[in-house]
Formats: sequence, C-alpha cells, structure tokens
Amino acid sequence: MVDRIAIVGLGLIGGSIGLALKAAKLHNVEVVGCDVSRQALLEAKRRGAVDRTEGSLREALKGADLVILSVPVLATKDVLQVAVPFLKEGVVLTDTGSTKARVMEWAQELLPPNVSFVGGHPLAGKETSGIQGAEATLFRGAVYALCPQPSADPEAVKVVGWLVESVLGARAFFVDPHEHDGLVAGISHLPIILSAALVSCTSQSPSWREMSKLAATGFRDISRLAAGDPTMNRDICLSNRESLARWIDVCIQELQEYRRLMLEESPALGERFNKAWEQRALWMLDREGKANERTLPDLPSAGERMSSLFFGDWATKRAHQMMEGPKRPAEPKK
Ligand code: NAP
Repeated sequence: MVDRIAIVGLGLIGGSIGLALKAAKLHNVEVVGCDVSRQALLEAKRRGAVDRTEGSLREALKGADLVILSVPVLATKDVLQVAVPFLKEGVVLTDTGSTKARVMEWAQELLPPNVSFVGGHPLAGKETSGIQGAEATLFRGAVYALCPQPSADPEAVKVVGWLVESVLGARAFFVDPHEHDGLVAGISHLPIILSAALVSCTSQSPSWREMSKLAATGFRDISRLAAGDPTMNRDICLSNRESLARWIDVCIQELQEYRRLMLEESPALGERFNKAWEQRALWMLDREGKANERTLPDLPSAGERMSSLFFGDWATKRAHQMMEGPKRPAEPKK
C-alpha cells in the first residue's frame, strides 16, 4: 500500500515522474518533492508535478512508502548515506541512474536490511536537463531497466513494476546490473562520447569558423548528445568506465578499418556501408514491432505498403535488394 511517494531530484527525469504520477490521479497518494535547487522546487510546484515540496531530505522522506532518487549518478551515494536514518521501516527505494552496477553496490553497502532497493533506468530522455523539459508522457512505450537487489522483498519489486508500467506507461526489463552496464555502454554511453568527440575535434580545427557555417542537419543530429548535461555525462562515464573503455577500443578499431578501406579504395568499403544500412533497417523494424517485415520478399503487397509507410519507397526497394544479397560493384571492363 503506497500512501506517500517522495521524489528526490526534481530535474528532467524526477519532474517527469512527478507529472506522470499526478496525471494518473491516484487516490489518497501524496507526492512530495525534494531538491537542492530552490528553482526546481518552485517549478515542480508551479507545474503540479508534486503536492508538496521540501528543501530538507529528512522532511521529504518522513512517512514515505516509496522513494524515487533521480539525482546525477555520483550524487546517489551521498543521498543514500544522508537518507538512511530517515527511511521508514519497509520502505521501497528506487533510482533512475543511467548506470547500475555502482549504484547497486552503494545500496548494498549503505542500506539496512529492512529497506528494499530496486535499481531503475528509464531508456528515455532528452538532451535538455532540468524540470523545464519534464513531460508526463516521457516514458510512455519506453524500455525501463530494473535491477532488484537480491534481498528485495517481492512486494517491493511489484510496487516498482506498478510505477514503471501502470503509472509511467513504460515496459519493465529485468536485468543484472553488470549486464545492464555492458549493454548500455555500447548503445547509450558510447554515442555520448562519439557526439562530444565530434564536436571537440571539429571545433578545435583552425577552419572551424568557416566549417561551422557549412555544418547542417547531419552535424546537428550527430552532435545532439553533446548538448546533454555535462555533469550527467561525466557521471555516466565515470560510473561505467570499464565497459565504456572496451567500447571505445572497439570503435577505434572500426574507425581504423573504415580509414584503411577508404584509403585503399577497397570495394569492401561499400559492403561495410551496406552492412551498416542493413543492420540499422533491421533494428528499426524490430523497434517498430515489425520484425516480420524481415521477410519482405515473401510478404503480400500489404507488407510492402507498411514498409513504404515507415521507410519510404527508396528504403523498401533497398530492403528487397538486401534480401537478395548485396550487389557488388561491376568488375571494370578489361
Ligand atoms: P537533471 O535534470 O540535472 O536533474 C537532477 C536534479 O537533481 C537537479 O535539479 C539537481 O539540482 C538535483 N540534485 C543534484 N544533487 C542533489 C542532491 N544531493 N539532492 C537533491 N537533489 C539533487 O538530471 P536528469 O536528467 O533528471 O537525470 C537524473 C538521473 O536520471 C541521472 O542519474 C541520470 O543519469 C538519469 N537519467 C537521465 C536521462 C536523461 O535523458 N536526462 C535518461 C535516463 C536516466 P542542481 O541542478 O542544482 O544540481
């Protein structure tokens, strides 16, 4: 039974959870918000993301049955340390941090046995930080990774599952914390580094003034993640450094390979782009729940129409070619 929910950290994610909780119109459930930023407290109240705000953690946690920590990853340890004496017996605790192994270690080390910790990570977000960008629907349809402490009460896991699926409209994905960090390093954290590295290397060029005038949508799209909150990005890297370092090595090798194939004018360069095109198209089909479209050539024309709708005619034609196998460039005439 949840009567009071405390959200610690009323930024983009904490604020969005608050808005979703309020939009769910739960009966007799009070949502209390806490943040170190006075501005965030005022804005959370103004936007109706919480019923009440508290500047002190002690007051915010008083009587809370469910506590949601939504602060930068490295601040989570400090918040846990300070929170322990004020937690109600049997409280359910969760977080939203982008990395999980370190957070789970801190929870194990700091929390008493009568507290159940279920680590969480919504695979949804924006590059803008702060409650100004918060939205009640931010998590709708998104995957939400959950890592229950082995000792967590099964009822506590149900409570967090209810929050994720019934209130936020996300899909719970239970995963081991180390596995989580290894997986997200490649698809979520490496892209942040690549985006920031692209901006660093181009903007440090002596030609940047001229180059920047030519930079258009491609540069804008790839540099989007570099616009993320610097504290959040630093904390993500530092709390997932081993996995991320491995992915950076793999990526450097891949870039070297592209460089070699390009300088050698190798036909394999086109095949590599073909392969990347194919993998992205398949990922998009899976993402849209259209995995069956993988068998496009065997599908009736309705399937093709669906594919055209999603990817356009050019992409559908390309998918057909792909199923037939990549076409190699014609041999030069002797
Ligand atoms: P955010 O917009 O920067 O909000 C964090 C809020 O927590 C800020 O208001 C911050 O105040 C406050 N705060 C910092 N230390 C605190 C403390 N000790 N006690 C109470 N409040 C504190 O960050 P966010 O984007 O919501 O991210 C929150 C968490 O969700 C992070 O762990 C992040 O890794 C994770 N996450 C983010 C995204 C995303 O796309 N943004 C997606 C998934 C998960 P100040 O600004 O004054 O420091």
